[in-house]
Amino acid sequence: MAEHPLKLIVVGSIGIDTVATPYDRAENILGGSASYACAAASLFSPTGMVGVVGEDFPTEHEDLYRHFAIDLSGLQKKPGETFRWSGVYRDNMDERDTLSTELNVFADFNPEIPPTYREAPFLFLANIHPALQLLVLDQMQSSFVLLDTMDLWINTELELLTQVIRRVDLLAVNESEAKQLTGERFLPVAARKLLDLGPDYVLIKKGEHGCMLFSNDRTILLPAYPLASVIDPTGAGDAFAGGMIGALASTDRVDTATLREAMVAGSIVASFAVEAFSLDRLQTLSRSELNERIRLYRAMIG
Ligand code: AMP
Repeated sequence: MAEHPLKLIVVGSIGIDTVATPYDRAENILGGSASYACAAASLFSPTGMVGVVGEDFPTEHEDLYRHFAIDLSGLQKKPGETFRWSGVYRDNMDERDTLSTELNVFADFNPEIPPTYREAPFLFLANIHPALQLLVLDQMQSSFVLLDTMDLWINTELELLTQVIRRVDLLAVNESEAKQLTGERFLPVAARKLLDLGPDYVLIKKGEHGCMLFSNDRTILLPAYPLASVIDPTGAGDAFAGGMIGALASTDRVDTATLREAMVAGSIVASFAVEAFSLDRLQTLSRSELNERIRLYRAMIG
């Protein structure tokens, strides 16, 4: 059998979102951790998606995934309605409140990994229930696994989530999740505790204040690209992590230099993702715009 070209598989949620910010609102738009992560990753490396949608999932959304050249062999379509989520951002555009979550077809999701995906060297477990993330880990033989999660699972499924954390190479959390997971106030101390659980790397995302990557012998700090306006922060973390692992998959190596470059890629893709609702900005993003912002950013950080 010919070698499968996919180096990266992303498993996560696919949703129809309704999002309100203090300045704007969008109803029934494409969202979900896998949507943002796959779109971002596919800018750097061919990406396979594993997720579930209902029969109501608009064909235009599937066409959009194809626009990004995302491989859809792992996308299941099941009787019933697609996962739906709605949230509202507070004035600072940083914190948000979930207004409703309708699991729908997600409630019975069994993430079956197509045989052609199983040996992909890079795996991104984007945010879904940790029990599903474990089912995926059991089927994959990836050598590098990146994990994302959310406060909901820290609050309700800490034991399962800890089992997942023990089995991954890079844990990505935001600042409040790092503190919530460890009970520690200072991020280097929180990162140390998280590294002690098993991962080789812990990435702490600090929104507009940038990000920090910790390993046992190294720390990498990067600022965020300074944006004049943010339209919708939804999916920024997924786009960051998707861009980061897509960039890693494209080099096929994980070392300090490639990780730093991958963090640059993640920061810049995330900066585009928040310039519009849903995948709208990533959809129109040209290679030259992406490269130009990466160039500007590199000049800023020296
Ligand atoms: P983020 O802004 O990175 O937290 O990701 C936002 C996306 O997460 C939205 O597009 C939602 O559809 C999706 N989402 C919200 N709640 C959940 C959940 N409980 N499980 C999986 N995905 C979710």
